[in-house]
Amino acid sequence: MAKRVVIVGAGPSGILLAHYLLRRQEAYQIEIYDRRPDPRSVSFEKARTYPLTLNARGLHALRQVPGLEDSVKAQGTAIWGTVVHGRKGKMRTLSRQKPLFALDRTQLVITLLEKLTETDQSDRLTLHFNCKCIAAHFERQSITFESITENSVAEELRADYDLLIGADGAHSVIRNHFLPTEEFTLEAQCVPTDYKTLFSLRRNEPAGLDLKPEHIHSWRLEDGTTVLAVPTSEAIASGVITFSCNNNSFVKLNTTTQVLEFFHQNFPDLSPLITDAEAEALLNRPVSQVLTIRCSHYHYGNSVLLIGDAAHAVSPSLGQGGNAAFEDVEVLDRLLDEYSDDLNLVLPDFSTRRQPDAHALVELSDSPFPLSKSLFLELIVRQKLGKVLHQLLPQHFPTSLFELLSDTTVPYSEILSSYRRWIAKVKRSNQKFLAQQSQ
Ligand SMILES: Cc1cc2nc3c(=O)[nH]c(=O)nc-3n(C[C@H](O)[C@H](O)[C@H](O)COP(=O)(O)OP(=O)(O)OC[C@H]3O[C@@H](n4cnc5c(N)ncnc54)[C@H](O)[C@@H]3O)c2cc1C
Repeated sequence: MAKRVVIVGAGPSGILLAHYLLRRQEAYQIEIYDRRPDPRSVSFEKARTYPLTLNARGLHALRQVPGLEDSVKAQGTAIWGTVVHGRKGKMRTLSRQKPLFALDRTQLVITLLEKLTETDQSDRLTLHFNCKCIAAHFERQSITFESITENSVAEELRADYDLLIGADGAHSVIRNHFLPTEEFTLEAQCVPTDYKTLFSLRRNEPAGLDLKPEHIHSWRLEDGTTVLAVPTSEAIASGVITFSCNNNSFVKLNTTTQVLEFFHQNFPDLSPLITDAEAEALLNRPVSQVLTIRCSHYHYGNSVLLIGDAAHAVSPSLGQGGNAAFEDVEVLDRLLDEYSDDLNLVLPDFSTRRQPDAHALVELSDSPFPLSKSLFLELIVRQKLGKVLHQLLPQHFPTSLFELLSDTTVPYSEILSSYRRWIAKVKRSNQKFLAQQSQ
């Protein structure tokens, strides 16, 4: 008989997992629940979103489902490098040998959903939106949702399961139900920088500005405030502005004029791309915080598993969270093959194999970029020089940290052991920098 799988969270990891499980013939009956409305029916402006880059890891996981990688790539933009914009209009381009693919998170979810419903011609999949998980009963193997009907009335729904997947993101409700279970430990920390999404124009011809396509553009202030923008269409660049959550002038701005003045003063070569409407929207957008999550393990017996951000949310600094979430799905799929779908063996082994990499990724993502100007310059020199030296003498100069992270599927734990000293140096320097900032 088919196992009944309940996936909580129709984000990238939950939907990709449904794709993978549907390939396993009649073995699984899948139900996906999400607290939000179906993104295919929500106007894009109302969606809470940001650009997300997929690298070799994420693309490899997509590639295992026929047609999925191409469909996702068709919605995205190839990224061949980063343009670092200096204070006085000076630009440095750091090129890539292999492209990343950038697309909007909501667009990624829509594409995965469209392909899922297009592929599934069976009755083995049901999707439930506007259904918020409010409780899970691990012993009884049942879960309770609050469903909002079309008339905005809340109803309680119950679902029983053989396998419950918590793919419900960094603030996971399913993970909360692990807390009273034996030997489960959780470390949740706020990343010291908050962010707001930002949509700028891509070009302003009278001002002679045109953001180079197929590149991430970055601007950075001495206090660590950073803007990252990706030209995602002919007209628009979408990105984020990140700023210290302690002592930052940006969050104190109250009027559209102050926002425009802030960009004019601090990011003069970006400011002509910020419209009055965007300055107002930016003011009204909520400040978002990011959590990092480290769990001791991700399974409960043979019936509950955490994946994606629910298991290991990380700072977005390296653009790895979504890629690692996709890797989880691939690892789980391999274990299902290895153990012929025996969940008694698959679930504990998922924790054993994934935990070292997930913890390493949190460590790597916490401090990959120096906040101090001098160490940041050292990083750029190391990157440029390292690339040349690696090409000349690969046996003496290893592949750079960022290439290992984005262009390979080398496990995160191996990457951390090779670059532990550099990561520790940046961490010390950033702690000192942030302490000075908050004085
Ligand atoms: C600013 C920013 C930039 C980023 N850039 C990148 C990048 O470039 N590359 C990259 O790889 N990663 C990036 N990330 C990280 C990436 O977005 C996440 O790692 C990825 O979305 C995780 O996918 P997920 O499916 O595990 O969780 P989520 O995307 O968080 O999805 C969780 C889903 O669960 C639903 N849900 C939550 N609670 C409940 C509940 N109680 N009941 C029912 N449903 C629920 C939510 O509505 C959501 O749909 C970025 C993150 C941020 C914040």
